[in-house]
Amino acid sequence: MSQVGHDGRPLRVAIIGAGPAGFYAIERLFKEKSLTIEVDLYDRLPTPYGLVRAGVAPDHQKIKSVTKVFDKLAAQPQFHFFGNVEIGQDVSVAELRRFYHAIIYTTGAQTDKNLNIPGIDLKNSHAATEFVAWYNGHPDYRDLQFDLSQECVAVVGVGNVAVDVARILCRTVDELAETDIADHALEALRHSQVKEVYMLGRRGVAQAAFTPAEVKELGEMAGADVYVLPAEAALDPISQESLAEADRGTMRKIEIVQAYAGRPLTGKPRRLILRFLVSPEALIGDDNGRVCAMRLVRNELYKTESGSLRSRAVDQHEEIPVGLVFRSIGYEGVPIPGVPFNERWGVIYNEQGRVINPETHSVVTGEYTAGWIKRGPSGVIGTNKPDAVETVECLLADFHEGKLPTPDAADFTAVETFVRQRQPRYVNYEDWLRLNEMEEAKGAALGRPRVKFTRVEEMLAALGK
Ligand code: NAP
Repeated sequence: MSQVGHDGRPLRVAIIGAGPAGFYAIERLFKEKSLTIEVDLYDRLPTPYGLVRAGVAPDHQKIKSVTKVFDKLAAQPQFHFFGNVEIGQDVSVAELRRFYHAIIYTTGAQTDKNLNIPGIDLKNSHAATEFVAWYNGHPDYRDLQFDLSQECVAVVGVGNVAVDVARILCRTVDELAETDIADHALEALRHSQVKEVYMLGRRGVAQAAFTPAEVKELGEMAGADVYVLPAEAALDPISQESLAEADRGTMRKIEIVQAYAGRPLTGKPRRLILRFLVSPEALIGDDNGRVCAMRLVRNELYKTESGSLRSRAVDQHEEIPVGLVFRSIGYEGVPIPGVPFNERWGVIYNEQGRVINPETHSVVTGEYTAGWIKRGPSGVIGTNKPDAVETVECLLADFHEGKLPTPDAADFTAVETFVRQRQPRYVNYEDWLRLNEMEEAKGAALGRPRVKFTRVEEMLAALGK
């Protein structure tokens, strides 16, 4: 292995998934100046950036400027992009191993956690992750339909994704029209009849998963008042006691929500109602199999032996007349064929990013993981940076100890020929930059950051592929 890592024989790494974790892994690899490292980045979509494009809310454009850092990395001569190539479909992991000294899986968490209550499969009950992907123009979700003729909506969960979903439902068309929200979503939301949006937290305000800036933004919307029941904003004795160890962020969240509780409604056309210490027990359907109400049960907090605060139901029930439901209780990873996967946790089996064979407990030589598919769906975009650094440092240590495999054909031309056979319409980074220019030009004409392509076929046609 020591002959590898110089200009004549670069260390060749494949990264699967072009989201933040993938790019942060590249950043760390390219910082290793003593070695020549080539990276091929794969994504099943023709577009890079993962959740920065398909997850970050359209009214949070500033967050998306991180793509400039990613583009700089992609401009390095030792970088190549294979977009529109699905690993496990177009090319198998076993085939990929023939071309690389190391593979890093950074595929994120592509599905949602299920909420196991009666009625969850009724019409008009959806995963928030699907709604998010739809309004962000992800091609797989482009043709979904959401019944925005309903006046009353429930969002289950009080994490930042729930906040995004509630905010997009409450924004005015003018607020949305200046973002890069997908055109089909803008059009559907233009006709929205939504008047009331509930966000439902199973625990109290002090335990809510949203962050202060995000919950504060809810109080600044042009067309929606925020409402909190004073009794639910108040802290129960267990939460009160926990404040002794609370960080500044928690204190700030409580302060913001409690200020909402005292705030008079100003007559804006929509109302966002934050509820705490309630859990959905069942969705109730009408004669057409559509959600027409949600049964809620009140919760109380209790302390587990390990000291964490959990919720449990008390015998107090109510019904809210909602016609549309989004469950926003977390994302979940999906397996990649041929890569050891922990179904229970929804992550690739790994130790510090080294993929582990769960039967032998040994390291799968040359295979690594980073981001949500390594640690689960938590943290902000920047959290993926130290996470990816940890993984790449394991990879580099393994390289220096001679522990990486020796592939048959470690050169770009060989893999490019192979990928082209399997997916003749693969998209490289120059192609993506052309798509990007087209999107931005369409947006500029309308005073928007971009107008997204939302179908793979349209992207390929625009590129003449
Ligand atoms: P999350 O932060 O883990 O929140 C999940 C929410 O679902 C929590 O309120 C959780 O309550 C609740 N929940 C879980 N199981 C439930 C059940 N069975 N019944 C009722 N409620 C349940 O997940 P997320 O909102 O999907 O966000 C994922 C990550 O992306 C987070 O780290 C988030 O901060 C980040 N993100 C950041 C931004 C931003 O910075 N603007 C935007 C979007 C996402 P418990 O706390 O009681 O478990």
